[in-house]
Amino acid sequence: MEVLKSAGVTQFDRCYLAFSFGPFIGFWAAYDGIQKLGALAIPGGSMSSEERLNSMIQNHATVLLCTPSYALHLAEVAEKVGIDMKNSSIQKIISAGEPGGSIPSVRQQIENLFGAKLYDHVGMTEMGAYGYSCQKRNGIHVNEKEFIVEIINPDTLEHVKPGEKGELVLTNLGRYGYPMIRYRTGDVVIYQKEPCVCGNPHLFLPGGIVGRADDMVVIRGMNIYPTSIEAIIREFPEIKEFRIVYYTEREMDQVKVLIEGPENAVEPLARLLRVRIGLRIEVERVENNHLTRFEMKAKRVIDQRESKVRGNVNGISI
Ligand SMILES: [Zn+2]
Repeated sequence: MEVLKSAGVTQFDRCYLAFSFGPFIGFWAAYDGIQKLGALAIPGGSMSSEERLNSMIQNHATVLLCTPSYALHLAEVAEKVGIDMKNSSIQKIISAGEPGGSIPSVRQQIENLFGAKLYDHVGMTEMGAYGYSCQKRNGIHVNEKEFIVEIINPDTLEHVKPGEKGELVLTNLGRYGYPMIRYRTGDVVIYQKEPCVCGNPHLFLPGGIVGRADDMVVIRGMNIYPTSIEAIIREFPEIKEFRIVYYTEREMDQVKVLIEGPENAVEPLARLLRVRIGLRIEVERVENNHLTRFEMKAKRVIDQRESKVRGNVNGISI
């Protein structure tokens, strides 16, 4: 609810939730928040992008909630089918699930396409939504009403100084039955000492999340660890070598797996990845010995995403 309030959403707004009501918990929290605020929640589950656009227009939606990649995808579909989103009733977009909303170039692009203001917010399944952008929209405030914040050097575990990159460590106070104490989020942030000029006294993180302290990436709102994908592939001993490829297609980040192995491994692996990871991951077979083998530390992840924010194992060099 803090996220919505900070973006200036009121009980008079009509909020369009452009997502399938699946395992992405962030949207369930948004649904509850909208209802608590007394605004109208319009669910957009089980619909194509075109149907969602039409539904937004018909319902005079004023606020759109989705991931930044999906906002770009919606704009692309709108242009293709001749729906004018720029002059639609949408005034605000609240994004989550990916870093894009705090990257100025991405934010600007989405704002131009929709003729609306984009507000970012950040959270994680384990913690809930812990931060949100304010009217300045150039970073994230941590909700210190519900979270104790520490920012540490991931190697020394010492607190870092203002302006230095560090890993965000949170303790949640507001969640019932699921306490997390000094939880290392893996999100790399920078904090400023001075309060934000917007007047909100809560800790301000310029630029939002600036990287990851591990190799996790966020694809379509889901946390993806290459190690989890690898663990599943390794259940198929007939697969001799593989690559995990992150890429961007029609403005949406995707993940696919290339394998060297028999054709009859493709289907079962794709099915298992879908079940265990919760995301459709395409599996593609390549010729035997097509993929380079590694003698030293293997590099099996290929990142071809157009906008990427990631860290490395040492956490700080992005
Ligand atoms: Zn502010």
